[in-house]
Amino acid sequence: MRPLMWFRADLRTRDNTALVAACAAASKGVVAVFTICPEQWREHDWGDPRVGFLRRNLLELSKALEGRNIALKIIERDTFDGVETDLLDLAKEHHCTALFFNEEYEVNERARDARVAAAFARAGLSVRSFHDQCVVPPGELRTQEDKPYTVYSPFKRKWYAYYNDGNAPKAQSLAKKQPEMVSTPDGIPDQFGNYDPQAGRPDLWKAGEDHARARLGSFIEDRLAQYKEDRDFPAINGTSTLSPYLAIGAISPRQCIEAALDANHGKLDTGGKGPVHWMSEVIWREFYRQILLAFPRVCRHQAFNPKYDIKWRTDKKAKDEFAAWCEGKTGYPIVDAAMRQLNQTGWMHNRVRMAVAMFLTKDLLIDWRWGERYFMEQLVDADLANNNGGWQWSAATGTDAAPYFRIFNPISQSRKFDPDGAYIRRFVEELESVEGDSIHEPWKHESLFQDTRYPKPIIDHAEARERALEAFKVES
Ligand SMILES: Cc1cc2nc3c(=O)[nH]c(=O)nc-3n(C[C@H](O)[C@H](O)[C@H](O)COP(=O)(O)OP(=O)(O)OC[C@H]3O[C@@H](n4cnc5c(N)ncnc54)[C@H](O)[C@@H]3O)c2cc1C
Repeated sequence: MRPLMWFRADLRTRDNTALVAACAAASKGVVAVFTICPEQWREHDWGDPRVGFLRRNLLELSKALEGRNIALKIIERDTFDGVETDLLDLAKEHHCTALFFNEEYEVNERARDARVAAAFARAGLSVRSFHDQCVVPPGELRTQEDKPYTVYSPFKRKWYAYYNDGNAPKAQSLAKKQPEMVSTPDGIPDQFGNYDPQAGRPDLWKAGEDHARARLGSFIEDRLAQYKEDRDFPAINGTSTLSPYLAIGAISPRQCIEAALDANHGKLDTGGKGPVHWMSEVIWREFYRQILLAFPRVCRHQAFNPKYDIKWRTDKKAKDEFAAWCEGKTGYPIVDAAMRQLNQTGWMHNRVRMAVAMFLTKDLLIDWRWGERYFMEQLVDADLANNNGGWQWSAATGTDAAPYFRIFNPISQSRKFDPDGAYIRRFVEELESVEGDSIHEPWKHESLFQDTRYPKPIIDHAEARERALEAFKVES
Protein backbone atom coordinates (compact mmCIF):
# COMPACT_ATOMS: atom_id res chain seq x y z
CA MET A 1 0.00 0.00 0.00
CA ARG A 2 1.38 3.41 -1.01
CA PRO A 3 -0.76 6.42 -0.05
CA LEU A 4 -0.80 9.75 -1.81
CA MET A 5 -1.24 12.32 0.96
CA TRP A 6 -2.93 15.50 -0.31
CA PHE A 7 -2.15 18.53 1.88
CA ARG A 8 -4.55 21.47 1.90
CA ALA A 9 -5.24 23.50 5.07
CA ASP A 10 -3.17 21.20 7.29
CA LEU A 11 0.44 22.19 6.64
CA ARG A 12 2.11 20.24 9.41
CA THR A 13 3.55 16.81 10.14
CA ARG A 14 2.51 16.63 13.83
CA ASP A 15 -1.06 15.75 14.78
CA ASN A 16 -2.10 15.66 11.14
CA THR A 17 -4.88 13.07 11.15
CA ALA A 18 -4.70 12.00 7.50
CA LEU A 19 -0.90 12.03 7.40
CA VAL A 20 -0.59 9.94 10.56
CA ALA A 21 -3.08 7.44 9.11
CA ALA A 22 -1.32 7.40 5.71
CA CYS A 23 2.08 6.78 7.29
CA ALA A 24 0.69 4.04 9.52
CA ALA A 25 -1.06 2.33 6.59
CA ALA A 26 1.86 2.55 4.18
CA SER A 27 3.91 -0.48 3.37
CA LYS A 28 5.70 0.99 0.36
CA GLY A 29 6.27 4.58 1.36
CA VAL A 30 4.17 7.74 1.09
CA VAL A 31 4.07 10.47 -1.56
CA ALA A 32 2.70 13.92 -0.64
CA VAL A 33 1.18 16.59 -2.85
CA PHE A 34 -0.06 20.16 -2.64
CA THR A 35 -2.21 21.83 -5.31
CA ILE A 36 -1.55 25.50 -6.11
CA CYS A 37 -4.65 27.15 -7.66
CA PRO A 38 -4.04 30.91 -7.83
CA GLU A 39 -7.07 31.91 -9.90
CA GLN A 40 -9.35 29.94 -7.62
CA TRP A 41 -7.79 31.58 -4.60
CA ARG A 42 -8.40 35.02 -6.13
CA GLU A 43 -12.02 34.03 -6.63
CA HIS A 44 -12.08 33.20 -2.94
CA ASP A 45 -10.64 36.66 -2.20
CA TRP A 46 -7.38 35.31 -0.81
CA GLY A 47 -4.88 38.13 -0.82
CA ASP A 48 -1.12 38.42 -1.06
CA PRO A 49 -0.54 38.24 2.72
CA ARG A 50 -2.27 34.90 3.14
CA VAL A 51 -0.72 33.37 0.02
CA GLY A 52 2.77 34.70 0.83
CA PHE A 53 2.46 33.13 4.28
CA LEU A 54 1.15 29.92 2.77
CA ARG A 55 4.10 29.71 0.39
CA ARG A 56 6.63 30.13 3.18
CA ASN A 57 4.86 27.46 5.20
CA LEU A 58 4.98 25.08 2.25
CA LEU A 59 8.76 25.49 2.12
CA GLU A 60 8.90 24.49 5.78
CA LEU A 61 6.47 21.64 5.29
CA SER A 62 8.52 20.24 2.41
CA LYS A 63 11.62 20.19 4.64
CA ALA A 64 9.74 18.61 7.55
CA LEU A 65 8.36 15.93 5.22
CA GLU A 66 11.81 15.19 3.89
CA GLY A 67 12.76 14.46 7.49
CA ARG A 68 10.04 11.78 7.44
CA ASN A 69 11.30 10.44 4.06
CA ILE A 70 8.27 11.83 2.22
CA ALA A 71 8.60 13.86 -0.98
CA LEU A 72 6.24 16.80 -1.48
CA LYS A 73 5.09 17.08 -5.08
CA ILE A 74 3.46 20.22 -6.46
CA ILE A 75 0.57 20.51 -8.90
CA GLU A 76 -0.18 23.92 -10.43
CA ARG A 77 -3.64 24.57 -11.89
CA ASP A 78 -5.37 27.93 -12.24
CA THR A 79 -8.58 26.69 -10.65
CA PHE A 80 -9.92 23.55 -9.00
CA ASP A 81 -11.20 22.39 -12.42
CA GLY A 82 -9.14 19.46 -13.57
CA VAL A 83 -7.32 18.92 -10.29
CA GLU A 84 -8.84 15.44 -10.19
CA THR A 85 -7.01 14.50 -13.42
CA ASP A 86 -3.69 15.86 -12.16
CA LEU A 87 -3.99 14.02 -8.85
CA LEU A 88 -4.92 10.78 -10.55
CA ASP A 89 -2.02 11.09 -13.01
CA LEU A 90 0.36 11.71 -10.12
CA ALA A 91 -1.02 8.74 -8.18
CA LYS A 92 -0.60 6.46 -11.18
CA GLU A 93 2.87 7.75 -11.98
CA HIS A 94 4.00 6.95 -8.43
CA HIS A 95 2.04 3.70 -8.10
CA CYS A 96 -0.03 5.07 -5.25
CA THR A 97 -3.03 2.94 -4.36
CA ALA A 98 -5.00 5.34 -2.18
CA LEU A 99 -5.56 9.05 -1.67
CA PHE A 100 -5.58 10.41 1.89
CA PHE A 101 -6.71 13.89 2.88
CA ASN A 102 -8.29 15.93 5.66
CA GLU A 103 -11.76 17.37 4.99
CA GLU A 104 -12.34 20.99 4.07
CA TYR A 105 -15.82 22.39 4.66
CA GLU A 106 -16.22 25.21 2.12
CA VAL A 107 -18.61 24.69 -0.79
CA ASN A 108 -16.17 24.75 -3.72
CA GLU A 109 -13.64 22.66 -1.86
CA ARG A 110 -16.28 20.04 -1.11
CA ALA A 111 -17.43 19.95 -4.72
CA ARG A 112 -13.80 19.54 -5.84
CA ASP A 113 -13.27 16.71 -3.36
CA ALA A 114 -16.37 14.92 -4.60
CA ARG A 115 -15.02 15.11 -8.17
CA VAL A 116 -11.63 13.82 -7.02
CA ALA A 117 -13.20 10.95 -5.06
CA ALA A 118 -15.31 9.97 -8.09
CA ALA A 119 -12.29 10.02 -10.42
CA PHE A 120 -10.26 7.84 -8.04
CA ALA A 121 -13.16 5.44 -7.58
CA ARG A 122 -13.53 5.11 -11.38
CA ALA A 123 -9.82 4.27 -11.57
CA GLY A 124 -10.20 1.65 -8.84
CA LEU A 125 -8.17 3.61 -6.27
CA SER A 126 -9.45 4.19 -2.78
CA VAL A 127 -9.96 7.52 -1.03
CA ARG A 128 -9.80 8.04 2.73
CA SER A 129 -10.79 11.37 4.20
CA PHE A 130 -10.60 12.50 7.83
CA HIS A 131 -11.93 15.22 10.11
CA ASP A 132 -8.96 17.20 11.32
CA GLN A 133 -9.70 20.95 11.25
CA CYS A 134 -11.69 20.94 14.50
CA VAL A 135 -11.43 19.13 17.80
CA VAL A 136 -15.07 18.07 17.47
CA PRO A 137 -15.92 17.25 13.85
CA PRO A 138 -18.30 19.81 12.30
CA GLY A 139 -21.83 18.38 12.16
CA GLU A 140 -21.22 16.03 15.08
CA LEU A 141 -23.07 18.13 17.66
CA ARG A 142 -26.82 18.56 17.12
CA THR A 143 -29.59 20.14 19.18
CA GLN A 144 -32.29 18.09 20.91
CA GLU A 145 -34.42 18.65 17.82
CA ASP A 146 -31.59 17.13 15.77
CA LYS A 147 -30.69 20.44 14.14
CA PRO A 148 -27.33 22.19 13.78
CA TYR A 149 -26.60 24.69 16.51
CA THR A 150 -27.16 28.32 15.57
CA VAL A 151 -26.51 29.78 19.03
CA TYR A 152 -23.04 29.66 20.51
CA SER A 153 -23.66 29.08 24.26
CA PRO A 154 -25.63 25.82 23.98
CA PHE A 155 -23.15 24.69 21.32
CA LYS A 156 -20.32 25.32 23.75
CA ARG A 157 -22.09 23.40 26.54
CA LYS A 158 -22.60 20.43 24.27
CA TRP A 159 -18.99 20.71 23.11
CA TYR A 160 -17.80 20.57 26.75
CA ALA A 161 -19.95 17.50 27.42
CA TYR A 162 -18.70 15.76 24.29
CA TYR A 163 -15.09 16.47 25.16
CA ASN A 164 -15.40 15.64 28.85
CA ASP A 165 -17.02 12.33 27.94
CA GLY A 166 -13.84 11.44 26.08
CA ASN A 167 -15.44 11.44 22.63
CA ALA A 168 -13.05 13.86 20.95
CA PRO A 169 -9.83 12.56 19.42
CA LYS A 170 -6.61 13.54 21.15
CA ALA A 171 -3.61 15.12 19.46
CA GLN A 172 -1.51 12.52 17.72
CA SER A 173 2.23 12.25 17.62
CA LEU A 174 4.52 12.88 14.70
CA ALA A 175 3.70 10.87 11.58
CA LYS A 176 5.73 7.66 11.34
CA LYS A 177 9.00 8.04 9.48
CA GLN A 178 9.02 6.10 6.22
CA PRO A 179 11.90 3.71 5.51
CA GLU A 180 12.84 5.51 2.30
CA MET A 181 11.83 8.27 -0.09
CA VAL A 182 9.91 6.93 -3.06
CA SER A 183 10.13 10.11 -5.13
CA THR A 184 12.05 13.37 -5.16
CA PRO A 185 10.51 16.56 -3.76
CA ASP A 186 9.46 19.22 -6.27
CA GLY A 187 10.81 22.65 -5.50
CA ILE A 188 8.26 25.15 -4.19
CA PRO A 189 7.72 27.71 -7.00
CA ASP A 190 9.15 31.18 -6.36
CA GLN A 191 5.79 32.72 -7.05
CA PHE A 192 2.21 31.45 -7.05
CA GLY A 193 0.42 33.00 -10.05
CA ASN A 194 0.74 36.75 -9.74
CA TYR A 195 0.71 36.71 -5.92
CA ASP A 196 3.49 38.71 -4.30
CA PRO A 197 5.79 36.15 -2.64
CA GLN A 198 7.20 38.76 -0.23
CA ALA A 199 3.80 39.74 1.16
CA GLY A 200 2.52 38.83 4.61
CA ARG A 201 5.29 40.36 6.72
CA PRO A 202 7.71 37.42 7.10
CA ASP A 203 9.38 39.36 9.93
CA LEU A 204 6.20 39.17 12.02
CA TRP A 205 4.81 35.82 10.90
CA LYS A 206 7.59 33.27 10.86
CA ALA A 207 6.62 30.16 8.98
CA GLY A 208 6.51 26.53 9.97
CA GLU A 209 4.98 24.20 12.50
CA ASP A 210 7.98 24.41 14.83
CA HIS A 211 7.52 28.15 15.06
CA ALA A 212 3.76 27.74 15.55
CA ARG A 213 4.36 25.39 18.46
CA ALA A 214 6.91 27.74 19.97
CA ARG A 215 4.40 30.60 19.64
CA LEU A 216 1.76 28.49 21.39
CA GLY A 217 4.27 27.57 24.09
CA SER A 218 5.25 31.15 24.86
CA PHE A 219 1.61 32.26 24.91
CA ILE A 220 0.71 29.50 27.36
CA GLU A 221 3.72 30.28 29.51
CA ASP A 222 3.56 34.07 29.53
CA ARG A 223 0.06 35.29 28.70
CA LEU A 224 -2.61 32.60 29.09
CA ALA A 225 -3.22 33.20 32.80
CA GLN A 226 -3.92 36.89 32.11
CA TYR A 227 -5.85 36.29 28.88
CA LYS A 228 -9.30 37.13 30.23
CA GLU A 229 -8.14 40.46 31.64
CA ASP A 230 -5.92 41.45 28.70
CA ARG A 231 -7.71 40.11 25.64
CA ASP A 232 -9.81 43.19 24.94
CA PHE A 233 -7.02 45.74 24.90
CA PRO A 234 -5.41 46.05 21.48
CA ALA A 235 -2.34 47.87 22.84
CA ILE A 236 -1.48 44.78 24.91
CA ASN A 237 0.07 41.68 23.41
CA GLY A 238 -2.48 39.62 25.30
CA THR A 239 -3.79 37.10 22.79
CA SER A 240 -2.08 34.12 21.19
CA THR A 241 -1.70 35.52 17.63
CA LEU A 242 -2.06 31.93 16.45
CA SER A 243 -4.87 32.63 13.97
CA PRO A 244 -2.66 32.59 10.83
CA TYR A 245 -1.23 29.23 11.90
CA LEU A 246 -4.66 27.76 12.63
CA ALA A 247 -5.96 29.07 9.29
CA ILE A 248 -3.40 27.17 7.24
CA GLY A 249 -3.07 24.32 9.69
CA ALA A 250 0.53 24.83 10.83
CA ILE A 251 -0.91 24.03 14.25
CA SER A 252 -3.99 22.02 15.16
CA PRO A 253 -6.83 23.03 17.48
CA ARG A 254 -6.21 19.83 19.45
CA GLN A 255 -2.65 20.96 20.15
CA CYS A 256 -4.06 24.31 21.32
CA ILE A 257 -6.74 22.87 23.58
CA GLU A 258 -4.40 20.28 25.09
CA ALA A 259 -1.73 22.87 25.85
CA ALA A 260 -4.34 25.01 27.63
CA LEU A 261 -5.70 21.97 29.48
CA ASP A 262 -2.20 21.13 30.68
CA ALA A 263 -1.92 24.62 32.08
CA ASN A 264 -5.34 24.29 33.73
CA HIS A 265 -4.92 20.96 35.56
CA GLY A 266 -6.86 19.18 32.84
CA LYS A 267 -10.00 21.27 33.36
CA LEU A 268 -11.93 22.54 30.36
CA ASP A 269 -14.69 24.65 31.82
CA THR A 270 -13.54 25.34 35.38
CA GLY A 271 -10.32 26.55 36.95
CA GLY A 272 -8.24 29.45 35.64
CA LYS A 273 -10.24 32.20 33.96
CA GLY A 274 -7.53 32.71 31.35
CA PRO A 275 -7.36 29.14 30.03
CA VAL A 276 -11.13 28.63 30.23
CA HIS A 277 -11.80 31.79 28.27
CA TRP A 278 -9.12 31.10 25.69
CA MET A 279 -10.43 27.61 25.03
CA SER A 280 -13.90 29.09 24.58
CA GLU A 281 -12.50 31.27 21.79
CA VAL A 282 -11.08 28.21 20.07
CA ILE A 283 -14.60 26.77 20.38
CA TRP A 284 -16.00 29.84 18.54
CA ARG A 285 -13.84 28.72 15.65
CA GLU A 286 -15.48 25.29 15.80
CA PHE A 287 -18.93 26.90 16.03
CA TYR A 288 -18.39 28.89 12.83
CA ARG A 289 -17.04 25.86 10.99
CA GLN A 290 -20.14 23.81 11.75
CA ILE A 291 -22.25 26.79 10.60
CA LEU A 292 -20.36 26.81 7.30
CA LEU A 293 -21.03 23.13 6.77
CA ALA A 294 -24.69 23.24 7.82
CA PHE A 295 -25.55 26.49 5.99
CA PRO A 296 -23.49 26.55 2.82
CA ARG A 297 -25.23 29.76 1.75
CA VAL A 298 -22.79 31.67 3.95
CA CYS A 299 -20.04 30.54 1.53
CA ARG A 300 -22.00 32.09 -1.31
CA HIS A 301 -22.03 35.65 -0.02
CA GLN A 302 -25.55 35.21 1.31
CA ALA A 303 -26.72 36.41 4.70
CA PHE A 304 -27.37 33.79 7.34
CA ASN A 305 -30.38 35.85 8.38
CA PRO A 306 -31.65 37.73 5.29
CA LYS A 307 -34.10 39.74 7.42
CA TYR A 308 -31.33 42.16 8.34
CA ASP A 309 -29.59 42.17 4.99
CA ILE A 310 -30.80 45.71 4.40
CA LYS A 311 -30.42 47.89 1.34
CA TRP A 312 -26.81 48.93 1.90
CA ARG A 313 -25.49 52.19 0.51
CA THR A 314 -23.64 51.80 -2.78
CA ASP A 315 -23.51 55.34 -4.22
CA LYS A 316 -20.37 57.34 -5.01
CA LYS A 317 -20.28 58.83 -1.50
CA ALA A 318 -20.45 55.36 0.03
CA LYS A 319 -17.60 54.24 -2.23
CA ASP A 320 -15.47 57.19 -1.15
CA GLU A 321 -16.22 56.46 2.49
CA PHE A 322 -15.36 52.82 1.96
CA ALA A 323 -12.00 53.88 0.50
CA ALA A 324 -11.38 56.08 3.56
CA TRP A 325 -12.25 53.17 5.84
CA CYS A 326 -9.85 50.86 3.97
CA GLU A 327 -7.02 53.37 4.23
CA GLY A 328 -7.63 54.16 7.89
CA LYS A 329 -8.71 57.74 7.21
CA THR A 330 -12.18 57.94 8.70
CA GLY A 331 -11.20 60.53 11.31
CA TYR A 332 -12.11 58.11 14.13
CA PRO A 333 -8.74 57.28 15.69
CA ILE A 334 -9.57 53.78 16.96
CA VAL A 335 -11.02 52.76 13.59
CA ASP A 336 -8.08 54.22 11.72
CA ALA A 337 -5.49 52.63 14.01
CA ALA A 338 -7.13 49.25 13.48
CA MET A 339 -7.31 49.54 9.70
CA ARG A 340 -3.69 50.62 9.58
CA GLN A 341 -2.70 47.71 11.79
CA LEU A 342 -4.40 45.47 9.25
CA ASN A 343 -2.75 47.14 6.26
CA GLN A 344 0.70 47.18 7.84
CA THR A 345 0.83 43.84 9.61
CA GLY A 346 -1.81 41.59 7.99
CA TRP A 347 -3.50 41.10 11.35
CA MET A 348 -5.92 43.01 13.53
CA HIS A 349 -6.84 42.59 17.18
CA ASN A 350 -10.27 41.01 17.72
CA ARG A 351 -11.72 43.88 19.74
CA VAL A 352 -11.08 46.34 16.96
CA ARG A 353 -12.12 43.88 14.22
CA MET A 354 -15.55 44.18 15.82
CA ALA A 355 -15.29 47.96 16.11
CA VAL A 356 -14.32 48.57 12.47
CA ALA A 357 -16.91 46.08 11.19
CA MET A 358 -19.63 47.79 13.22
CA PHE A 359 -18.46 51.16 11.96
CA LEU A 360 -18.63 50.07 8.34
CA THR A 361 -21.99 48.35 8.56
CA LYS A 362 -23.80 50.62 11.03
CA ASP A 363 -22.21 54.07 10.87
CA LEU A 364 -21.61 53.94 7.14
CA LEU A 365 -24.38 51.47 6.21
CA ILE A 366 -22.00 49.78 3.81
CA ASP A 367 -22.50 46.16 2.83
CA TRP A 368 -20.73 43.69 5.16
CA ARG A 369 -19.64 41.81 2.01
CA TRP A 370 -17.37 44.73 1.05
CA GLY A 371 -15.71 44.59 4.43
CA GLU A 372 -15.55 40.82 4.42
CA ARG A 373 -13.76 40.86 1.06
CA TYR A 374 -11.31 43.57 2.12
CA PHE A 375 -10.42 41.58 5.23
CA MET A 376 -9.93 38.40 3.21
CA GLU A 377 -7.59 40.26 0.87
CA GLN A 378 -5.51 41.83 3.64
CA LEU A 379 -5.41 39.29 6.47
CA VAL A 380 -2.59 36.80 6.95
CA ASP A 381 -5.16 34.76 8.90
CA ALA A 382 -7.91 35.11 6.27
CA ASP A 383 -10.36 32.32 6.99
CA LEU A 384 -13.79 32.10 5.40
CA ALA A 385 -15.65 30.60 8.37
CA ASN A 386 -14.28 32.98 11.01
CA ASN A 387 -14.29 36.03 8.80
CA ASN A 388 -17.79 35.53 7.53
CA GLY A 389 -18.93 34.73 11.07
CA GLY A 390 -17.35 37.91 12.41
CA TRP A 391 -18.73 40.11 9.66
CA GLN A 392 -22.25 38.75 9.82
CA TRP A 393 -22.15 39.03 13.62
CA SER A 394 -21.30 42.71 13.29
CA ALA A 395 -23.86 43.38 10.56
CA ALA A 396 -26.68 41.70 12.57
CA THR A 397 -27.24 39.22 9.72
CA GLY A 398 -25.37 36.34 11.35
CA THR A 399 -26.00 33.42 13.66
CA ASP A 400 -26.19 34.55 17.24
CA ALA A 401 -25.36 38.03 15.95
CA ALA A 402 -25.26 41.33 17.75
CA PRO A 403 -28.82 42.73 17.54
CA TYR A 404 -29.08 45.56 15.02
CA PHE A 405 -29.74 48.17 17.72
CA ARG A 406 -26.49 47.33 19.54
CA ILE A 407 -24.34 49.85 17.75
CA PHE A 408 -20.82 50.42 19.03
CA ASN A 409 -19.85 54.01 19.67
CA PRO A 410 -16.32 54.34 18.25
CA ILE A 411 -15.41 57.01 20.79
CA SER A 412 -16.55 54.99 23.81
CA GLN A 413 -14.84 51.91 22.36
CA SER A 414 -11.67 53.93 22.10
CA ARG A 415 -11.88 55.25 25.68
CA LYS A 416 -12.76 51.85 27.09
CA PHE A 417 -10.31 49.63 25.26
CA ASP A 418 -7.43 51.98 24.52
CA PRO A 419 -7.74 54.28 27.52
CA ASP A 420 -4.34 55.94 27.25
CA GLY A 421 -4.31 55.89 23.44
CA ALA A 422 -1.18 53.74 23.20
CA TYR A 423 -2.63 51.64 20.38
CA ILE A 424 -3.82 54.65 18.44
CA ARG A 425 -0.44 56.37 18.74
CA ARG A 426 1.33 53.24 17.54
CA PHE A 427 -0.51 53.18 14.23
CA VAL A 428 -1.77 56.71 13.57
CA GLU A 429 1.43 58.66 13.30
CA GLU A 430 -0.38 61.98 12.75
CA LEU A 431 -1.66 61.67 16.33
CA GLU A 432 1.59 60.50 17.89
CA SER A 433 2.13 63.68 19.84
CA VAL A 434 -1.46 64.24 20.94
CA GLU A 435 -1.59 63.93 24.67
CA GLY A 436 -4.24 62.81 27.12
CA ASP A 437 -7.88 62.20 26.41
CA SER A 438 -7.84 64.35 23.24
CA ILE A 439 -6.53 61.29 21.41
CA HIS A 440 -10.06 59.86 21.32
CA GLU A 441 -11.73 62.93 19.79
CA PRO A 442 -8.97 64.97 18.19
CA TRP A 443 -11.43 67.05 16.16
CA LYS A 444 -12.62 68.68 19.39
CA HIS A 445 -9.16 69.78 20.35
CA GLU A 446 -7.67 71.12 17.17
CA SER A 447 -5.57 73.66 18.99
CA LEU A 448 -3.81 70.88 20.85
CA PHE A 449 -2.15 69.54 17.76
CA GLN A 450 -0.99 71.44 14.75
CA ASP A 451 -0.93 68.55 12.35
CA THR A 452 -3.81 68.99 9.94
CA ARG A 453 -3.07 65.87 7.90
CA TYR A 454 -5.34 63.82 10.12
CA PRO A 455 -8.89 63.93 8.68
CA LYS A 456 -12.01 65.23 10.35
CA PRO A 457 -14.60 62.47 11.02
CA ILE A 458 -16.24 61.42 7.76
CA ILE A 459 -19.55 61.09 9.58
CA ASP A 460 -21.11 62.20 12.83
CA HIS A 461 -21.63 59.09 14.95
CA ALA A 462 -24.81 60.25 16.69
CA GLU A 463 -26.49 61.04 13.34
CA ALA A 464 -25.18 57.84 11.79
CA ARG A 465 -26.62 55.83 14.66
CA GLU A 466 -30.08 57.30 14.14
CA ARG A 467 -29.85 56.65 10.42
CA ALA A 468 -28.88 53.02 11.03
CA LEU A 469 -31.66 52.40 13.54
CA GLU A 470 -34.13 53.83 11.04
CA ALA A 471 -32.76 51.78 8.14
CA PHE A 472 -32.87 48.51 10.07
CA LYS A 473 -36.33 49.25 11.46
CA VAL A 474 -37.78 50.09 8.06
CA GLU A 475 -36.22 47.15 6.29
CA SER A 476 -36.67 44.49 8.91
C1 LIG B 1 -15.12 41.15 11.50
C2 LIG B 1 -14.26 39.98 11.98
C3 LIG B 1 -13.48 39.29 11.07
C4 LIG B 1 -12.69 38.19 11.48
N1 LIG B 1 -11.94 37.53 10.56
C5 LIG B 1 -11.19 36.45 10.93
C6 LIG B 1 -10.41 35.72 9.99
O1 LIG B 1 -10.43 35.98 8.77
N2 LIG B 1 -9.65 34.70 10.46
C7 LIG B 1 -9.63 34.33 11.78
O2 LIG B 1 -8.94 33.38 12.14
N3 LIG B 1 -10.39 35.00 12.67
C8 LIG B 1 -11.15 36.04 12.31
N4 LIG B 1 -11.89 36.72 13.24
C9 LIG B 1 -11.93 36.22 14.64
C10 LIG B 1 -10.88 36.82 15.59
O3 LIG B 1 -10.84 38.20 15.49
C11 LIG B 1 -9.48 36.27 15.32
O4 LIG B 1 -9.51 34.86 15.25
C12 LIG B 1 -8.51 36.66 16.46
O5 LIG B 1 -8.45 38.05 16.58
C13 LIG B 1 -7.15 36.10 16.14
O6 LIG B 1 -6.22 36.49 17.10
P1 LIG B 1 -5.54 35.43 18.07
O7 LIG B 1 -5.04 34.28 17.29
O8 LIG B 1 -4.57 36.17 18.91
O9 LIG B 1 -6.79 34.97 18.92
P2 LIG B 1 -6.92 34.37 20.39
O10 LIG B 1 -7.70 35.33 21.19
O11 LIG B 1 -5.63 33.92 20.92
O12 LIG B 1 -7.86 33.10 20.14
C14 LIG B 1 -7.35 31.81 19.80
C15 LIG B 1 -7.96 31.32 18.51
O13 LIG B 1 -9.36 31.17 18.66
C16 LIG B 1 -10.03 31.49 17.45
N5 LIG B 1 -10.88 32.66 17.67
C17 LIG B 1 -10.67 33.68 18.52
N6 LIG B 1 -11.70 34.56 18.47
C18 LIG B 1 -12.55 34.08 17.53
C19 LIG B 1 -13.80 34.53 17.01
N7 LIG B 1 -14.39 35.66 17.44
N8 LIG B 1 -14.38 33.81 16.04
C20 LIG B 1 -13.82 32.66 15.60
N9 LIG B 1 -12.64 32.18 16.06
C21 LIG B 1 -12.03 32.88 17.02
C22 LIG B 1 -8.95 31.85 16.43
O14 LIG B 1 -8.64 30.73 15.67
C23 LIG B 1 -7.79 32.27 17.33
O15 LIG B 1 -6.53 32.13 16.73
C24 LIG B 1 -12.69 37.81 12.85
C25 LIG B 1 -13.47 38.54 13.76
C26 LIG B 1 -14.24 39.61 13.34
C27 LIG B 1 -15.08 40.37 14.34
